[in-house]
Amino acid sequence: MFRLAAAPYRCLVSLAFILASGPAFCQTVAPAVAPPSAAPATASTESALRVFDPSLVDKAVDPCENFYRFSCNGWFKRNPLPADQAVYGRFTELFELNRLHLKQILEQETAPATTRSGNEQKIGDEYASCMDTATVNKLGIAPLKPELDRIAALRTPGDLPALLAHLHAIGVNAFFGLGSSQDYADSSSMISFYGAGGLGLPERDYYTRTDAKSVEQRQQYVAHVRKIFVLAGEPDAQAAKDADTVLAIETRLAKASLTITEQRDPQNLNHPTDVIAFSKELTHFSLADYVAAAHAPAAGKANDMEPKFFAEFNALLADTPVDRIRTYLRWHLLHAFAGTSLPESFDQETWNFYAHTLNGAEKQQERWKRCTSRVDQELGEALGQVYVARYFPPAEKQRTLEMTLAIEQAMDKDIDALDWMSATTKIQAKEKLHAVMNKIGYPDKWRDYSKLEIVRGDALGNQVRAHEFEVARDLAKIGKPVDKGEWQMTPPTVNAYYDPQMNNVNFPAGYLQPPFFSGKEDDAANYGDMGSTIGHELTHGFDDQGRQFDKDGNLKNWWTKEDEQKFTERADCMVKQYDAIEAVPGVHLNGKLTLGENLADLGGLWLAWLAWLDKAEAAHVDMMAATDGYTPDQRFWIAYAQQWCTQTRPEQLRTQAQGDPHAPDEYRTNTVLQDLPEFAKSFSCKKTAAMVNPKPCRVW
Ligand SMILES: [Zn+2]
Repeated sequence: MFRLAAAPYRCLVSLAFILASGPAFCQTVAPAVAPPSAAPATASTESALRVFDPSLVDKAVDPCENFYRFSCNGWFKRNPLPADQAVYGRFTELFELNRLHLKQILEQETAPATTRSGNEQKIGDEYASCMDTATVNKLGIAPLKPELDRIAALRTPGDLPALLAHLHAIGVNAFFGLGSSQDYADSSSMISFYGAGGLGLPERDYYTRTDAKSVEQRQQYVAHVRKIFVLAGEPDAQAAKDADTVLAIETRLAKASLTITEQRDPQNLNHPTDVIAFSKELTHFSLADYVAAAHAPAAGKANDMEPKFFAEFNALLADTPVDRIRTYLRWHLLHAFAGTSLPESFDQETWNFYAHTLNGAEKQQERWKRCTSRVDQELGEALGQVYVARYFPPAEKQRTLEMTLAIEQAMDKDIDALDWMSATTKIQAKEKLHAVMNKIGYPDKWRDYSKLEIVRGDALGNQVRAHEFEVARDLAKIGKPVDKGEWQMTPPTVNAYYDPQMNNVNFPAGYLQPPFFSGKEDDAANYGDMGSTIGHELTHGFDDQGRQFDKDGNLKNWWTKEDEQKFTERADCMVKQYDAIEAVPGVHLNGKLTLGENLADLGGLWLAWLAWLDKAEAAHVDMMAATDGYTPDQRFWIAYAQQWCTQTRPEQLRTQAQGDPHAPDEYRTNTVLQDLPEFAKSFSCKKTAAMVNPKPCRVW
């Protein structure tokens, strides 16, 4: 599903291994295309996953020279990257284990029983419909015919608004997006957000880069669009012409869109207006007709997130013949459904471009995995409710909460100790910290899916209705009180996030287990691993983006001028540090794009370290006593590093270096630790060692 760039929440990892189709977002809403990769034949079992695992350590590597290799070589040897993977790491290991658990639930609910509850019927029948390739193949493109007919019926620009509202409702990413979001100026108010969209390549720079590899990728994209048109029944010569039209329109939209780095600054996305004033800007598009068809507010406050984009959209409508608009819409319609809802030929071709060509995966993921993910994306809180009851003991929630409170306390003390921040700003920072809401495991109130109809044997219709349900749910929030209990991730998700407009941290149940956290391990391991994640999310509230929001989630500056300058100087140290890293030949990391995540990694690990030291002192832990050959502090650092053991294909690494706000995992380990003298002390590293930055960066 198309997602507005409005939601500025920051997560622990991008789900690039699930969604190879778009920019590296962290949400789990339905991908428009097939996921890129499959797990090895057998997923890891729970018992095999450990938070601190001495058997993964490679003693032949000097920890002061390459701590990532030292901590992870054993894992690399045990987990060679399978032919069907673009990226495989500890997060994928747990993701695959969770997916096996979800499969067991779904297979049970697939057997029609008279006793199934409403939710059980929906998740079971949606899974069965997705798995039923015989029916999907037999139906061919027929279920999409009514939608194709609607587009073919577009005759004049005046018909476009109602058609576009319908396409947006069913999940087609054409031109722009409308959604609800908290007003940047007043976080207690839900308003209309209009955002840029309409691209088939992952993000705007894919259309503008001029290097040989990018030019080749664009040619491959055009070839892909052409093949999809041919599969939909067009003669090849026409399909070739139409694919060129798609690229031309998308390039125009891309050039008027903000870069993903520009989108990081919420000020760039904040252009308050109201629906009526906004409609006057769009002289060639009746916004009144659009909102009427979308059942969205016809008046009231709105945010035109990218005015330059909407000006270009308006200009494009003025000078583009309607037949070209139809071609563009037809492509986005086919693209939106070319996963598990259309015959395998579409599915295969879509996988081929997005997962294989762009990210290097060599084999398509098995169907059951993709169908399980699909149900998680469409009916996440119905499936999640069963998942939580079976796999998330209440004690885990309590343990996570205790650790979160300990890390928050460490941050409170650390703010006091900062030598660069004034007392005035410190008061504000602490107020914001104390206002953070901790959400753990799953929502207190589950989503009500009773109005969503899921019909067995109708995979495409189910996808349409699931999108309509979600879009209606989202738009209905405009003008209503903010629901602070809502989650952006489903309970089985292996991830975590901070939401600056809510000022809350969120840890889904799916993440709160080995290899990231275990009641069987000691504090050194758990604080090094999950503790650093809690610190990471908390630090997002104070990174280059999060620090611009106040304790109530309003985009409002609470910094003195001098403190702001000192923050920027310190952050610039990290921008330069990551800019200097060449991830693949010719492609450097983007220090500005990754700044928020890098700040969160370094600050988060530091907070976990402080919290753990306090805990160890209170528990009289013997700091010299070795377990498995390592002292408690050494195990803290190894547990931190081992969460990032990951195998990545060069194609995927390139995609990640260009567009993911997270640095590749090797740097999330080594570069972060190079900035912490406490790490070097634990391993008695010499000042000249590779793992020691002589001029360490430090903000939080
Ligand atoms: Zn993050």
